[in-house]
Amino acid sequence: MNSDAARVRKSVRVTGTVQGVGFRPFVYSLAARLGLAGFVGNDSEGVFAEIEGSPAAVAEFLVAVERDAPPLARVGQVVSTSMRPNGSAGFTIAPSAPGAQRTALVSADSAMCADCLAELRDPADRRYRYPFINCTNCGPRFTIVADVPYDRPNTTMAPFAMCKRCAAEYHDPANRRFHAQPVCCPACGPRLSLRSAGGSPRAAGEPLAAAAALLRDGQVLAVKGLGGYHLAVDARSEAAAAALRARKHREDKPFAVMAAGLAAARELGEVDETAAALLTSPRRPIVLLPRLPGAVAAAVAPGNRTLGVMLPYTPLHQLLLEAVGGPIVLTSGNISDEPIAYRDEDAFERLAAIADAFLTHDRAIHIRTDDSVVRVWGGGEVVIRRSRGYVPEPVTTAHRFPRPVLACGAELKNTFCLASADRAFVSHHIGDLENAATLRSFTEGIEHFGRLFGIEPQVVAYDLHPEYLSTKYALDLGLDSCGVQHHHAHIASCLADNGHDGPVIGVAFDGTGYGTDGTLWGGEFLVADLAGFERAGHLEPVPMPGGAAAIRQPWRMAAAYLRAAFPGGPPPGLDVVKRNERNWAAITSMAERRVNAPLSSSAGRLFDAVAALLSVRDTINYEGQAAVELEQLADPGETGSYRVAISDGPSFRIQGASLVQTAAGELTEGAPAPVIAARFHNGIAALIEEGCVLAAERHGLDTVALSGGVFQNLLVTGRAVARLEARGFRVLLHSRVPCNDGGISLGQAVVAGARDRAG
Ligand SMILES: [Zn+2]
Ligand SMILES: [Zn+2]
Repeated sequence: MNSDAARVRKSVRVTGTVQGVGFRPFVYSLAARLGLAGFVGNDSEGVFAEIEGSPAAVAEFLVAVERDAPPLARVGQVVSTSMRPNGSAGFTIAPSAPGAQRTALVSADSAMCADCLAELRDPADRRYRYPFINCTNCGPRFTIVADVPYDRPNTTMAPFAMCKRCAAEYHDPANRRFHAQPVCCPACGPRLSLRSAGGSPRAAGEPLAAAAALLRDGQVLAVKGLGGYHLAVDARSEAAAAALRARKHREDKPFAVMAAGLAAARELGEVDETAAALLTSPRRPIVLLPRLPGAVAAAVAPGNRTLGVMLPYTPLHQLLLEAVGGPIVLTSGNISDEPIAYRDEDAFERLAAIADAFLTHDRAIHIRTDDSVVRVWGGGEVVIRRSRGYVPEPVTTAHRFPRPVLACGAELKNTFCLASADRAFVSHHIGDLENAATLRSFTEGIEHFGRLFGIEPQVVAYDLHPEYLSTKYALDLGLDSCGVQHHHAHIASCLADNGHDGPVIGVAFDGTGYGTDGTLWGGEFLVADLAGFERAGHLEPVPMPGGAAAIRQPWRMAAAYLRAAFPGGPPPGLDVVKRNERNWAAITSMAERRVNAPLSSSAGRLFDAVAALLSVRDTINYEGQAAVELEQLADPGETGSYRVAISDGPSFRIQGASLVQTAAGELTEGAPAPVIAARFHNGIAALIEEGCVLAAERHGLDTVALSGGVFQNLLVTGRAVARLEARGFRVLLHSRVPCNDGGISLGQAVVAGARDRAG
């Protein structure tokens, strides 16, 4: 044995997502393998350890602690300081200590791991077919944590006292369940129950088998998941899917489907390598796949070329899917646009008129979290809704926030963001902030995040729209406030997503956002960096006859655009005019006289106008529907394009009406609608290119950031990127946060941070 003089001792601090992910047992076994003495523990800042041994072993430890970290860990930093060796022997795990600071990161919920799945299927295992099986490497996290540090008493597992066998596993450093806070078994853990529509327990029968039988019988089942209640029906039953639509008051918006496994998913949609990796990842998002015909009932996703598919992420889902023997619709448990139900009593009440029965259990959900939605683009992942499985993992920012920031987001698809140091915690999907229920989840969510991550904001960022509930909330806080224009926030969000500082040419195309001039913007070319922007150009504003009514009724936008395109009256024979003959003159004159017809440069409204012109849809049932269906209609093989006129000025104006003029002309000449739809899309890509070239000439920039809900349209995005890259531009797109308003809060936060840095 070497003399003690050769020994070194170091105090080690590991930050990042290192709690609830098996980090302490990992450190314990690493230290044991290297023959190190000392201890490891959790506190509110992360994991701390002291290690003592030979210099080589200590050095190896400091490398391996990051390199070999457990699968769910996200190591931020490893900081070590030298100490005087004290000759201690053995390695121990210290109990958690409550601390003053709370910067340790709670991890996201994670799908059942392969080891747990194997136990679930093993008749000899004591957790055989137990719907709440989990371990250090998988299971519920964010949705069950009420406070930090992440320890069982601070989770919704607190009421379940571990049985002897579970406790033995929990305390055994060699066990996969060592310090797994939600560890449980049939003897001591949560239990499943099947309840009737009123919430009272149903008599007799094994709940899972009975629930599966109900689904096979075409009934609507409410299922308690990780982040809330879902509504489920047999995805192959036309009648069941139609009944669910009718009861949920959801006319057209597509439902997501859960398939038992990858093979089953391949029967529903085209699954490439990237999609397969996303479907089976521990995050388990809904992945939008090119749909295979006839695999599910038409009513599941009417008129849609894509289908949202996910795989089971809890053992309960796994058992249910296997028992049903086919794909099931799994859509959020709510009526229309209310937030998803997650508390049992609330679910029993609100979903009573929709569900025929409830498959539920007695482990509470602490925070409501919707499923995440992603799609594959260019061989990578594009996040459309960032929620379960992703949240609360922070987005690391290139610059530190001088003071903690709360960014309150936008009105639709709201998220908020709490940021401090170099981390931005973008919240789970809150929803549309239009009613008391969503506003409550917004305010409660902000408090919860503040507590979990120990962030007390000193600066609040908000959208300029004076009527947004998020704006009103922000201004009521009495903190230093920072108003951020909606489209600047979009571009800043894209910059943060890419770790870019700007300046760039930012193309922000969406439905609507409040402009600095008090009009509604949405077809914007900005020259922007994180701190500020200049409006380089935009779509020519067009009146929205009836204001918000024009958003719900795209034919009104057709009327407004046709008036702009054909001042002497539209060409005869247009179906959109015939269908709306009774109100056409009144709406046109409303646009002309600018009475209750606010001006908007929105790109979304231009898509609406063309959708109505091509008889895709005169009125919508969900946000963005007309544009989504117009994209579906377009012939992807068509390469022809419409040209736009551009009016010059300090801020150039692109005449969207010229696209409508050409489209209407071709329509009356008998061109097929799919060809016109494609040429319109190509025309949008072309005008993006032209706008960027103009902006580049004036401002000398060669990088373009694309953001805003319009870029969820892959046809436009694909064609625009191809054109821009052919022109030599570098193009920044979103990947980690949505390009839609779900990404706005991150953009607001980094703008506030940049302005704070500038003083
Ligand atoms: Zn596991
Ligand atoms: Zn147990």
